[in-house]
Amino acid sequence: MKLRIGLGTDIHRLVEGRPCILGGIQLPHPTGPSGHSDGDAVLHAITDAITGAAGLDDIGTLFPDDDPHHKNADSKGLLRGALDLVHEAGWKVGNVDVVIGTEGPKIKPHRAAMRESLAALLQVDVDQVNVKGKTLEGMTELAHGNAVSVQAVCLLVSN
Ligand code: MG
Repeated sequence: MKLRIGLGTDIHRLVEGRPCILGGIQLPHPTGPSGHSDGDAVLHAITDAITGAAGLDDIGTLFPDDDPHHKNADSKGLLRGALDLVHEAGWKVGNVDVVIGTEGPKIKPHRAAMRESLAALLQVDVDQVNVKGKTLEGMTELAHGNAVSVQAVCLLVSN
């Protein structure tokens, strides 16, 4: 059995007038991630983690944000497309772990729903996906800028 590890990060501003879609679910929050797509920074970070582990191109190369086809794209579709490529390359997801840094929305009340959403998208069991929120403690430019910053790590296992 071969193993590969990949790391993905993403950061989006949280702005008014956008739904707060993170991890493939909509959270009740007055602001949401800006972006060309739906701005789901969790799915973007995971997409980069799985493609990175498989030695494939990154999300910006696979799905260019200047391509009008991807305007307001559902990031679940981008992740599914990337996962297809990972599977075709002979890998499947072993596990994914995600850290979401933000002053809000609160992640903890939505952890279970987010893990289920991610497990379904990644075609694995819920215990192979973990998510946790970290407050920025009001200390960084990120916190003042009203943003979400995500790190995701993924282990791939050979098919
Ligand atoms: Mg992004």
